[in-house]
Amino acid sequence: MTTITFDDVTKKFPARGGNSTEVTALSGVDLRIESGELAVIVGPSGSGKSTMLDLLAGLDLPTSGEIRLDGRPITGPGLDRGVVFQQYALLPWRTAQSNVEFGLEAKQVPRPQRRDRAREYLDLVGLSGFENHYPHQLSGGMKQRVAIARSLAFDPEVLLMDEPFAALDAQTRDLLQEELLRIWESTRKTIVFITHGIDEAVFLGQRVAVLTSRPGTVKDVVEVELTHR
Ligand code: ADP
Ligand code: ADP
Repeated sequence: MTTITFDDVTKKFPARGGNSTEVTALSGVDLRIESGELAVIVGPSGSGKSTMLDLLAGLDLPTSGEIRLDGRPITGPGLDRGVVFQQYALLPWRTAQSNVEFGLEAKQVPRPQRRDRAREYLDLVGLSGFENHYPHQLSGGMKQRVAIARSLAFDPEVLLMDEPFAALDAQTRDLLQEELLRIWESTRKTIVFITHGIDEAVFLGQRVAVLTSRPGTVKDVVEVELTHR
């Protein structure tokens, strides 16, 4: 169970190249994401969504302010966070099964358990029967399912998703949105989902944080009526 808080988080990037002014990607962001929530962060390009996710993933540090997981400040990597990006980042020379097992090898989970857990999560994302397929034998949607299974098999405290369906066709995207809701309902993981699509945000989110650009701030946090579920 993991509650995430952004407490007055500002992120500035130094001036770079021909650009003489620093970029304020986030300015005084306050946000609370409750344990077990599927929270969506939506905003236009350049509003700081990826920066928020990078900070959550521990890939970068805020310039000022603090991000906490259950009250503990996040400082760099170390905590269990699963990340699913727009690009699948699967290893092409490994099967679906073996891609899902990959993260578990690093965690030194014994082989038989790795195999069982990978099968279980491939089943959860609807890929039973595709264990021995290589990425090039799978469609875009299926590859993204493998990426989701890989992140979940790792049993992270929080699942971070950065525009994971943006590269998919509309029909596959709709299907995976439904799948993600089902997975979230069965696992009750805390999920932070980033998108620039308002439709996707409102469909998936229990609460939607709306970012505005120049400089990135949280403009509003909208509670979504879940009448469509
Ligand atoms: P979004 O994901 O909403 O498109 P980003 O978080 O990628 O927004 O970017 C927010 C702002 O910060 C943009 O103006 C972007 O150009 C800038 N930015 C992001 N990363 C860097 C970086 N590494 N160096 C300099 N500026 C950056
Ligand atoms: P997206 O719009 O998909 O979030 P971007 O094209 O904004 O992607 O950014 C791609 C990468 O480049 C990111 O890792 C981001 O941190 C970095 N980046 C974005 N803007 C800048 C910038 N002005 N200077 C340096 N790096 C940047």
